[in-house]
Amino acid sequence: METHDTRDDRATLATDPVCGMEVDPATAAATSEYQGKTYYFCAVGCKNRFDKDPQSYIGAQEP
Ligand SMILES: [Zn+2]
Repeated sequence: METHDTRDDRATLATDPVCGMEVDPATAAATSEYQGKTYYFCAVGCKNRFDKDPQSYIGAQEP
């Protein structure tokens, strides 16, 4: 009997906009909401950098 859980967690990963690391929203070290969207960070330091200047990390994207 197979007991190995092979859920595809890749689909649930978010990308840390500061460093580009893949972050699991369930275990993210920090989160921040900006313009109605939630961003996930691998570390509090990344969130702090994002909060200081969010546009520099997501400004290139179209609204
Ligand atoms: Zn990061």
